[in-house]
Amino acid sequence: MIEREQIEMDVIFVGAGPANLAAALHLKNSIAEHDEKIDKGYLHGNKVGEIEIGIVEKGSYVGAHILSGAVMDPIAIRELMPDFLEQGCPVDTVVTEDAAWYLTKNRSITAPITPPPLKNKGKYILSLSKMCEWLGEKCEEAGINIFPEFPASEVLYDENDRVIGVRTGDKGIDKEGKPKGNFESGVDILAKITVLGEGSRGSLAKQLTTRLGLNHGKEAQVFSLGVKELWEVPEGNFPEGKVVHTLGFPSDTQTYGGGWIYGLKNNVVSIGYVTGLDYKDPNIDPHREFQKFKTHPNIAEILKGGKMLKYGAKTINAGGYYTMPRLYADGVLLVGDCASFLNGQRIKGIHTAMKSGMLAAETIILAFQHDDFTTETLRHFEEKVNLSWIYDELHPVRNFHGAFQKGRWSGLINSGLQFLTKGMAWGFMPKEHHVAGHERMQKLSELNGQNADRYENVKFDKEMIFDKVTDVFHAGVAHNEDQPSHLHILDPEICATTCAEEYGNPCQRFCPAAVYEMEFDARSKRQELKVNFSNCVHCKTCDVSDPYQIINWVTPEGGGGPDYKGM
Ligand SMILES: Cc1cc2nc3c(=O)[nH]c(=O)nc-3n(C[C@H](O)[C@H](O)[C@H](O)COP(=O)(O)OP(=O)(O)OC[C@H]3O[C@@H](n4cnc5c(N)ncnc54)[C@H](O)[C@@H]3O)c2cc1C
Repeated sequence: MIEREQIEMDVIFVGAGPANLAAALHLKNSIAEHDEKIDKGYLHGNKVGEIEIGIVEKGSYVGAHILSGAVMDPIAIRELMPDFLEQGCPVDTVVTEDAAWYLTKNRSITAPITPPPLKNKGKYILSLSKMCEWLGEKCEEAGINIFPEFPASEVLYDENDRVIGVRTGDKGIDKEGKPKGNFESGVDILAKITVLGEGSRGSLAKQLTTRLGLNHGKEAQVFSLGVKELWEVPEGNFPEGKVVHTLGFPSDTQTYGGGWIYGLKNNVVSIGYVTGLDYKDPNIDPHREFQKFKTHPNIAEILKGGKMLKYGAKTINAGGYYTMPRLYADGVLLVGDCASFLNGQRIKGIHTAMKSGMLAAETIILAFQHDDFTTETLRHFEEKVNLSWIYDELHPVRNFHGAFQKGRWSGLINSGLQFLTKGMAWGFMPKEHHVAGHERMQKLSELNGQNADRYENVKFDKEMIFDKVTDVFHAGVAHNEDQPSHLHILDPEICATTCAEEYGNPCQRFCPAAVYEMEFDARSKRQELKVNFSNCVHCKTCDVSDPYQIINWVTPEGGGGPDYKGM
C-alpha cells in the first residue's frame, strides 16, 4: 500500500486548456468583485474570501499538449479580459479574407458566397498553445497554483460517490510496474469542487461519466480526428490573414471530412485535414487522408518550395448539443471539449470552451456563497449554460453532424435546411441522430474490396508528403520508455485473432502516430500487436475508434507526450 501525501485545495481544475484557464482566472477575478460588492453593501449574502485554486496539467508546461487550428472567435476572451490585446494576448494575425473550396480530384471550385458559419473576417488566427501559455502566466500572476507534469490519473470519491478530488499519477515506475530509484508517489488533491477540462475524450471524464451515468439518455458522442502541419512557404504562396476551408477530395461521399489552410504572419501556414471517426471503411487512415489532401494541385501549389515545421494530431468531439453529458454531479463540473461544447459546424470550440469555464466559475462562487457543493447548487451550471449564448449557438446546429452520418449530400442538404429552420432535422437523417463511430465501422467482408487502392498515389517523398514516423518526429514527442504502457490493451487475444480477421487491425491505420503495429511473434508463431507507446501524441483516437473498445488510454508519467509549442 503506497502512502500518499494529501493536499487540500478549495477548487482543483484538471487540464490547463482554454476552458479551465478561463475558468480559474474568471473565478479569481469574480470573487474579488463579488466580495467588494458585499463590502460596499451593493450585494447581500456571504463573502467568498481567499480560496486555494489549483490547476493540474499533464504536459511539461502549459500549452505543451494544446493543439488547435486555430481561428478564434474573440467573444469569450473579450468577456474575460476586455483589453486582452493590450495585455499581450499572443494573437498572430486578423482574418482578412475567407474562402470555401469544393475540391474534385484535380480541380477546385470556390463557393461564390462563403457559407455564413465559415465566415471568419475580423476573427483572430493564433497558436492556441501560445495563447494557453500566456493565459497560464495570467493565472499565476493572479495567485492561481499551476502544476505542470501532474496528470490526474483517478477521480477520488467518498462513500456516497461524491467527488472529493483527484489522485495524480505516480512517477518512477519501470515497465514491469516496479518502483525505480527515483520513485515518487502521486498525491491526493482533495477539493470541495473538481472541474474536469481535459479536452476531447478526457480520461477522467470518461471514468466519471460511466460511473455516474452522466450520459444516460444522451446520444452517443462522435469524434473526428484533426491532423495538422505547420509550414513555412515561399513569399506569395499564401497571404497572411486568409482562411480557406475545403470539402470534397480526398474524402469519399460517405466519410465526413474537410481541410483548412490558415495564413499566419511571416509566410507560415497552418494546414490540416479533419476526418470523421465515424467512417465505415476500416481501411481509412486519417493521416494518409491528410497526406493525400496535400497532393491536390491547388494545395500542392501553396506548399511548393516550403518546409514543414511541426506536426500534430488530436481528436475533436463533434457531436454537439445532443451528446452533451450532464455537466455536474456532487463535487464536480465538466467544461470545454470533454463536455461536448464544440460547435462542429464552425469547427470552433475555443470560445465555447472558455465561456463554459467562465459559467462554471460563476456557479462555483454560488456554491461557496451557500457553502453547498452538491448537485443542489452545481445544477445551476447547466441552467447558466442554457441561458447563455452557448445555447443560442449550439442548439441550432444540434443536428449538424448527425446529418453527415448519412453521407455528404444528406449532410449538405440538411445543413442548408437547418440553417433556415434553426436546426430542425429533415429527411435523410439516421434514426438515432448520432451513432458512435466504432459501431459504424464495417467489416472487411462487407466491403468486397471497395476502395482498397485508396492511397495508391500517396508516395512519401519526405518533402511534401510524410510518413507517420517522420511526422511524429516533428511533434517533439517524448515519453520515458522505462514505464508501463499507458495504452492498455484489455484483450490482446482479440487483436491477434478476431480483429485481424474482421477489420484487418484498423488501429495500425487510424492511429496518426505509428503507435500500433502487427508483428510476427516467434513464440506464438502468429502476428501479435506491438504498442509503440512512446510515439503517442495523446490524440485519443485509439480509445475512440477501436471497434471492440478494448484500447483504454490512461495518463502516462507526467510531462511525457508531444511538444506543441507554437502549434
Ligand atoms: C485540429 C484541431 C483544429 C481546431 N481548430 C479550431 C479552430 O480553428 N477554432 C476553434 O475555436 N477551435 C478549434 N478547435 C477546437 C479547440 O481547439 C477546442 O475546442 C479547445 O481547445 C477545447 O479546449 P479545452 O480546454 O476543453 O481542451 P484542450 O484544449 O484539449 O485542453 C485540455 C488540457 O487538459 C490537459 N489534460 C487532459 N487530461 C488531463 C489529465 N487527466 N490530467 C492533467 N491534464 C490533463 C491536456 O494536456 C490539455 O492541456 C480545433 C481542434 C482541433 C483538434
